[in-house]
Amino acid sequence: MLIAEAVHLLDRLFPKGMQQAYDACGLQCGRTSRELQGVMVGLDVTEGMIHEAEQRGCNLLVTHHPLLFHPLRKLGEESRVERLLHTLLEKGMTAYAAHTNLDAMPNGVNGVLADAWGLLNRQALEPLKAPLMQLVVYVPLEHAESLRNALFEAGAGVLGNYGEASFGVQGTGTFKPLEGANPHLGSLNTRELVEEIRLELVLERWKTHEVVDAMKRAHPYEEVAYQIIALEQIAPYYGIGMVGDLPEPLHVHELLALFYKTLGCPLRHTNIVAESTFFPPKITRIAFCGGSGADLWPKAKAAGAQVYLTSEVKHHHFLDVMDQLLLVEAGHSETEIPVIERIQAIIQPFFSTFAVLQTRSSQNPTQYFPSRNETHGS
Ligand SMILES: [Zn+2]
Repeated sequence: MLIAEAVHLLDRLFPKGMQQAYDACGLQCGRTSRELQGVMVGLDVTEGMIHEAEQRGCNLLVTHHPLLFHPLRKLGEESRVERLLHTLLEKGMTAYAAHTNLDAMPNGVNGVLADAWGLLNRQALEPLKAPLMQLVVYVPLEHAESLRNALFEAGAGVLGNYGEASFGVQGTGTFKPLEGANPHLGSLNTRELVEEIRLELVLERWKTHEVVDAMKRAHPYEEVAYQIIALEQIAPYYGIGMVGDLPEPLHVHELLALFYKTLGCPLRHTNIVAESTFFPPKITRIAFCGGSGADLWPKAKAAGAQVYLTSEVKHHHFLDVMDQLLLVEAGHSETEIPVIERIQAIIQPFFSTFAVLQTRSSQNPTQYFPSRNETHGS
């Protein structure tokens, strides 16, 4: 497999159409015309990860954080990013990032945390804007089923936890093949009446190109009559941050212990004001945003969460939320390191003949004093 094919596959698994406007997901650097040797997954591209990838026979690095997040104006050696780019290119490696698109996927950064805590009724805190499209296509009766199958195969017809959703209604279509046409049925300059199905399906915006391609390949007509319509409604499972219900109500100290057990880092939090209006004796609903998400706390509050966990919380955030909800800060890396295993799990089935390895290099640039082992007690 060429790296270009691997990148194409990754673009399907982590659609760039889901990323935030400011982001730079996808291919970061490297020749894509080389043969793929192996894939290594991590949080950040580091010299340690590059060295490890070389030792373990991997030439494609897939990370959560993009190496080229801030645009470069030159390629010298001053900055960490410039030096890493040189090392990657000298070693013939390719780097790829799945960042805010992975944040926005229901099984991405926050989905992993939600799985760890067994959360129910999950919704994004800040859903993606207008993520859905509708495809309407007219197809002769006898080809409706094969077209439907091709569209499902290309990823159309998914509604939350439901797949293969479509609607069809029968009617009569007309057309007249004009000069230059090569019609599937009918003859030149004669109006044709055909029993057709009007087939309707929803699809995510980022799948449009692929679904339309599949539709054209599977449709018998030379000129396919179809419409793509942008929908206004949100799909609450796609977006930044997450809110959900705990499987069982927990006392706040039990909840903090659960966070600590999952993330393994010290937590900073606002005052625990027992049994205030916003703070029930037991917590039932929590919100969180892996990585940096402190500004989203009003959305957590509006979604009915009693607790909001994220990283990179500033002094003013703590002040602002004091009477609103319990704000908990964990480390940036600690909230995202769990997704590395998920990236590997998403990719591996599509690279069955290639190794997809998790990096063993340290992925956390932040350390604590006392160290984690000392605070852990084991
Ligand atoms: Zn991050």
